[in-house]
Amino acid sequence: MSAVSHELRTPLTTLRMHAEMLQEGLVAPERLPVFYDDLAHESVRLSRLVENVLAVAQLEEGRRVLQLRPGDLAAQIRDIVDDQARHVERRGFPPVELALPDEPVTVRSDPQAVEQILVNLLDNALKYAADARAAGLRVELAALADQAILRVQDRGPGIPEADRDRVFDRFYRVARERDAHTPGTGLGLALVRELARGHGGDAVAAARPGGGAELQVRFPLASAAVRPT
Ligand code: ADP
Repeated sequence: MSAVSHELRTPLTTLRMHAEMLQEGLVAPERLPVFYDDLAHESVRLSRLVENVLAVAQLEEGRRVLQLRPGDLAAQIRDIVDDQARHVERRGFPPVELALPDEPVTVRSDPQAVEQILVNLLDNALKYAADARAAGLRVELAALADQAILRVQDRGPGIPEADRDRVFDRFYRVARERDAHTPGTGLGLALVRELARGHGGDAVAAARPGGGAELQVRFPLASAAVRPT
């Protein structure tokens, strides 16, 4: 509760102060674009945070049952990355490099959950790899014999080996000097893993070859005889 409340306070304070300054005409016209940008950024952050908290609570209370239907995971991923393009650009990153198979990748998935998974992974990459933004982000989907693997890669500091499992625990954050002021609750990856497991798959963290973080989400292919756990 305190981790979440603390995180709610910062965007709310920014929103309130910005709104009051606009109301009182205290913002010079040339600074307006920056103000509007901050307002948009903080409201997106706030709604995503609230969505994550609600999603974790709903799963925990058994109020959310994933609606798994066969569909093309590659097409879903392309749409989500397209939807996030402006957000990525606003954070000063080049367009996401997308590597998808030519053939459809049929997976029994809940599109809303897939979106929550990918948006959380992209948000983390934008947040933790901000210093390496020039290197951009890469999203890859590979179809193997019985599973599809989604990889989200950045060139940031990566996740130390000792923390690679624990980052999926609720509220766990890597203790790093450089991230001391990076906002976050430690709920994002816990949600990603729970949603992946709800598909009968899993989520893991790896080191990206050449440096950076690689987050993998595995989904059983619809044709494979894998039962959801
Ligand atoms: P939050 O970002 O809110 O702290 P998450 O559950 O999404 O929580 O992530 C847990 C922790 O994993 C983060 O605090 C961060 O230390 C680490 N982490 C996640 N993604 C990355 C990444 N792409 N690069 C480096 N560290 C990461």
